[in-house]
Amino acid sequence: MRIAVLSDIHSNLVALDAVLAHAGNVDGIWHLGDVVGYGPDPDGVVARLGEGAAVGVRGNHDAAALGGDEIDFFNPDAKAAMLWTRRHCSPATAAWLEALPLRLVEDEVTLVHGSPRDPIWEYVTSERVARANLAVLTTRDGLHGHTHVPIAWVGGGDKVHGEAPGDRDTITFETRRAFLNPGSVGQPRDGDPRSSYLVLDMAARSATWHRVPYDIDAVARAMRAAGLPVRLAERLYHGR
Ligand code: ZN
Repeated sequence: MRIAVLSDIHSNLVALDAVLAHAGNVDGIWHLGDVVGYGPDPDGVVARLGEGAAVGVRGNHDAAALGGDEIDFFNPDAKAAMLWTRRHCSPATAAWLEALPLRLVEDEVTLVHGSPRDPIWEYVTSERVARANLAVLTTRDGLHGHTHVPIAWVGGGDKVHGEAPGDRDTITFETRRAFLNPGSVGQPRDGDPRSSYLVLDMAARSATWHRVPYDIDAVARAMRAAGLPVRLAERLYHGR
């Protein structure tokens, strides 16, 4: 079974469509939250995920879009974009976001946005934090997003190490536990502006990361037309 794992789509429908076209025929789509926020097309992204029968979890931006006080922790640009998002989510989009759980177990893999112990806010950016979260993970393997940086934490017990996968890199876990971040579809932050996602091969116990170019100009134009913060459009070109 091959599953496309997407995270931090952030209302970027052009990027999502490029990734879905690239992934082609997969057996499922799992998302790790932050479906909305920053970008110009919250309704379009939610509709597309619905069409693909995607399952997934709630991120801090999704919670904020539903009126949550997560917005109080956002920087000024993120906050301005979130106020815009709240005004532009249809009732159907809001209902879809409302139904997202904080944690989800699919085929014995745990899905979270931030981390297993703090699914909304914690950033898993070090081996120490990855190890602590693997210790509380109730399934063998897990998936997280939130940092917008692709990484694979593999190992078990005291031995957990991070590997930064590049485009088309496959990491095989075999007997090791895996806690994987696919990177961001809609706003990559590792210096590569191309969308990032991974394909999980459950039988082979491996994951392959992919980078997919998309029409950034079209998204930046739509963001300017919508009156979203200019800096948020500019950062898409830099992948920062
Ligand atoms: Zn995010």
